[in-house]
Amino acid sequence: MKCRHCKTELNQVFVDLINCPPSNDMLKPEQLNEPETFFPLKIFTCHNCLLVQVDEMRKADSIFNSEYTYFSSFSTSWLAHAKRYADMMVERFGFNEKSQVIEIASNDGYLLQYFAAHNVPVLGVDPTANTAAVAISKGIPTIIDFFGADFARTRLVDKNIKADLILGNNVLAHVPDINDFVQGVKIALKKTGVVTFEFPHLMRLVEECQFDTIYHEHFSYLSFITVKRIFESQGLEMFDVEELPTHGGSLRIFAKHKDDITKPISPNVAGLLQREEAAGMKKPEYYNNFQPRVENIKYAVWEFLIKAQREGKTVIGYGAAAKGNTLLNYCGVKGTDLIRFAVDASPYKQNKYLPASHIPVKDLNSIAEFKPDYVIILPWNLKKEIGEQLNYIRDWGGKFVTFIPELSVF
Ligand SMILES: [Zn+2]
Repeated sequence: MKCRHCKTELNQVFVDLINCPPSNDMLKPEQLNEPETFFPLKIFTCHNCLLVQVDEMRKADSIFNSEYTYFSSFSTSWLAHAKRYADMMVERFGFNEKSQVIEIASNDGYLLQYFAAHNVPVLGVDPTANTAAVAISKGIPTIIDFFGADFARTRLVDKNIKADLILGNNVLAHVPDINDFVQGVKIALKKTGVVTFEFPHLMRLVEECQFDTIYHEHFSYLSFITVKRIFESQGLEMFDVEELPTHGGSLRIFAKHKDDITKPISPNVAGLLQREEAAGMKKPEYYNNFQPRVENIKYAVWEFLIKAQREGKTVIGYGAAAKGNTLLNYCGVKGTDLIRFAVDASPYKQNKYLPASHIPVKDLNSIAEFKPDYVIILPWNLKKEIGEQLNYIRDWGGKFVTFIPELSVF
């Protein structure tokens, strides 16, 4: 078992969540009587390059199956984030009708539509057929495939496609072979092209004990120090970085070819490297005390659920997403006695069941019909937005609950 980046033998455990079904595998009613597949979920730190990573290499095609149900366009806050990004990039780098923007993991075209609105030619790449079909129906050209060095050569460069901007949100941490992926980015980028990627920041994961952002589809957990090292190994250089509130704290990195001297290096680069080093992220010890903090959250979840149950209070969950599945599966919450049901805005998830826990997923109207005492916001990173949307639960004395970074009832 070797590090995905530097091939050093992995022997330092970051956290062991034991096992979990693939977190996006929602179950149909007829599947409830079928066996379910669980995969180990053990995360290692490479003591050489400090890349935090899942140990086993699952076949990507079995995770991103054709039933993958995450449609980016169902999140209004994520759409607003995508629009702000596109407008900012057009303003900052002057992309126009002669430019080429390529998004990797373009999903249903949620982001590229905003570049298309500026008349910038766009191309999406995504392995998931049903989300890509939605993008294509919206007029966003999309290649249904996995991105990597071979793809960049044969499907882009050989067809005279090179990019002025290559971007990807929440994909860099999701690729099994991160070296090959970044090499593909290098190959497909024009001489003065720009690369941006957004991914959850490992420093925030550790500081706020965000262990529920760990799931099988998520192969790497990235610090700026490590990402910079991986990009440099492929001849790409960081020239800026932004810290974003998305997904509980993300980084947006800006990279370019190392020999492209047209872009100044922002002081943000040295600033963040210093802060990560000051936090201890260059030392292996930083990664060694995560497990007991995760276990403490498990105890808080059980204490809350048992107390609510003993008091005769009803509890439901909001948001049938990967985070909630990691939390519920690690904590071993199953069935409908403690959490009656979950709700989700996406019709693709409604009338299905969460994997392993078999908690049914209903539509949002079910909240007002059932009038629960507590609504657990499983995607705690959206608690402000969701709390505002569901403020009507106050009418019957309902309260919200989040468990990360610690139990909060409000
Ligand atoms: Zn390594």
